[in-house]
Amino acid sequence: MKNKKQKYACFSIDVERFIDTECVRNANQPIEQTMLDGLDRYMEILDRHNIKATMFVLSDFAEDIYEQLKKHLENGHKLALHGKEHIAPRKHSNEKFRAQIISAKTKLEKMFDTEITGYRAPHFSIDRDKLGILNELGFRYDSSRMDFPTARYTTYVDMDGFENPTGEIYKKEEFYEFGVPTQNVFGKKYPISGGGYVRMSNWFFINALIKRYAKKNDYYMFYLHPFELSKEKLPKLGKLKFYDKMYLKKGNLLYRYKIENIIKILKKTGYKFTTFEKLVNE
Ligand SMILES: [Zn+2]
Repeated sequence: MKNKKQKYACFSIDVERFIDTECVRNANQPIEQTMLDGLDRYMEILDRHNIKATMFVLSDFAEDIYEQLKKHLENGHKLALHGKEHIAPRKHSNEKFRAQIISAKTKLEKMFDTEITGYRAPHFSIDRDKLGILNELGFRYDSSRMDFPTARYTTYVDMDGFENPTGEIYKKEEFYEFGVPTQNVFGKKYPISGGGYVRMSNWFFINALIKRYAKKNDYYMFYLHPFELSKEKLPKLGKLKFYDKMYLKKGNLLYRYKIENIIKILKKTGYKFTTFEKLVNE
């Protein structure tokens, strides 16, 4: 970040199975489909635009998708950690968190012969203690901060003591936090960086928000879950609540076009596509 006027966009994906989605897991149904074809479909879009992304991976099932991950790594995408399993870190003590992160990081590094320097918490559920632990364990960045009070599982993180070079980027010594950008809508913050928020939102509404944001800001990031782009048919979800069914289905078919459009907006407004890994070293 030498040149203050350069705008940066980072693309990412939280590589998790359909069953790792909280509402699906809570429904306690036997579900075979992983919907991980969505990872390849996402990468296919990004590869076409020569955009490199960061894959936040759960170490518990990394061996099951070794070849899939390896292929994307060989194409220049980056590997980071999404945890051992898909459980919100705030449910664990600091000691358990530390132990899990050490074993998950070591496992992925050995498996893929690459250094893991980034982390994103399941459910964006991070706190200051756990940020400190990541820093101690040699991570260079976290990307879990969502300053959006009504999100179901997220926790608000006070960044007191961190520098704030721009937007949702925070920095303390050599450690960075890459948060989720939001836009104000009638005085309330609305996430514009992917996941269910962008997918379920009205096309024109979200388009206008992202355009407005992109013109005025110099950091944007995008994240996604594989099921959101999967071509597989959603399994029968009888036991789920209406809202959860909506969350899992709404907007999936159109999402690839929305992503293409976001890329177009970012290109038009002068963004450079990079990775979190590159940004921490610049
Ligand atoms: Zn996740």
